[in-house]
Amino acid sequence: PFDVLVIGGGPAGAAAAIYAARKGIRTGVAAERFGGQVLDTMSIENFISVQETDGPRFAAQLEEHVRSYDVDIMNLQRAEQLIPGDKEISVRMENGAVLKSKTVILATGARWRNINVPGEQEYRTKGVAYCPHCDGPLFKGKRVAVIGGGNSGVEAAIDLAGVVAHVTLIEYGDQLRADDVLQRKLRSLPNVDIIMSAQTTEIHGDGTKVNGLSYKDRTTDTIKKVDLEGVFIQIGLVPNTEWLKGTVNLSKYGEIEIDAKGQTSVPGVFAAGDVTTVPYKQIVIAIGEGAKASLSAFDHLIRTSVT
Ligand code: FAD
Repeated sequence: PFDVLVIGGGPAGAAAAIYAARKGIRTGVAAERFGGQVLDTMSIENFISVQETDGPRFAAQLEEHVRSYDVDIMNLQRAEQLIPGDKEISVRMENGAVLKSKTVILATGARWRNINVPGEQEYRTKGVAYCPHCDGPLFKGKRVAVIGGGNSGVEAAIDLAGVVAHVTLIEYGDQLRADDVLQRKLRSLPNVDIIMSAQTTEIHGDGTKVNGLSYKDRTTDTIKKVDLEGVFIQIGLVPNTEWLKGTVNLSKYGEIEIDAKGQTSVPGVFAAGDVTTVPYKQIVIAIGEGAKASLSAFDHLIRTSVT
């Protein structure tokens, strides 16, 4: 069995694996797709100490760093079930294998909810974006839309209004769902338009980048078009915890509940990164959280096992 088994090979999982391996204990990482969300990222400019890099390069460096240690990497392996136990915790994989470990670190990340309209996939990283903290500055001086009028959409619109030339906020319902104070702040901004009862139907482009968005005005059933250079989709971040239901405690949003040390509700099971309740989903945060969960797992091991 492993001493530490990490599920997930994004920034949080990679950090957890390196911190565990450096303690000289048996460490494994199983990941569906080593690299995680970073693989879908164009440019990364906010990982402190690295001025600029791109997603695939960053992901390759994560893997290289993990491989420089004695870590058993199991890539393209999907975990399907967590089975807690007194001495050993088991993880059943999609291929039928059962991995056993004294401690487990869950770092399965999250995924942005897609809007599923024509143009979304085609123009991903070519004007279609999901993370205002990450990609906002790429649209400096340009016009963008934010799709979604919940807290994350309205926060994104306020944030972007300070960076870009103009923001159109598009909400499907007939009112915004964000907190009142955010709505008031949004309405006070001169370079923001708010369109309600609008169903986005298509994101347009010239083949290489976004140049517009069409929506159906749900009050009149007419299609309208907005010219712009960017679209931020803010209709939810979904944690990859479907496989964990009924084992570790999850928040109402499906995030794994952890304490300040990364401990979940199940002894010996820790969690880190976007999959947890820790706010602000960013690489630099996921990496710190992964290191922390790993140190906590080590702490747990020296208190509970004799070998
Ligand atoms: P993830 O990166 O989501 O990794 C999860 C890992 O778990 C993956 O290896 C996945 O395959 C695996 N996994 C999932 N389910 C299972 C399962 N059942 N079994 C086994 N493995 C599983 N952040 C920044 O700081 N700067 C940026 O510029 C930036 N740009 C971004 C751009 C885009 C388009 C996106 C989508 C995100 C961006 N982010 C950025 C956010 C950043 O990528 C995440 O915060 C970070 O990747 C979270 O790391 P993580 O390790 O927690 O999860």
